[in-house]
Amino acid sequence: MGELRLCVQCRTRPVDERWRPFCSERCRNEDLARWADGRYRVAGEPVPPPDSDEEQPD
Ligand SMILES: [Zn+2]
Repeated sequence: MGELRLCVQCRTRPVDERWRPFCSERCRNEDLARWADGRYRVAGEPVPPPDSDEEQPD
């Protein structure tokens, strides 16, 4: 019993109890970094609508 779960980050190595749900501290840090990066972009860089490219009507 006890199924062997794979690390959610690298998906190749079994989860380590200490770093669940990751296999190592390294994978955990990579995952956190990815999250932080994604949040940073979403929060700090709003995507302008494609229509509102600075048009200057004559
Ligand atoms: Zn891993």
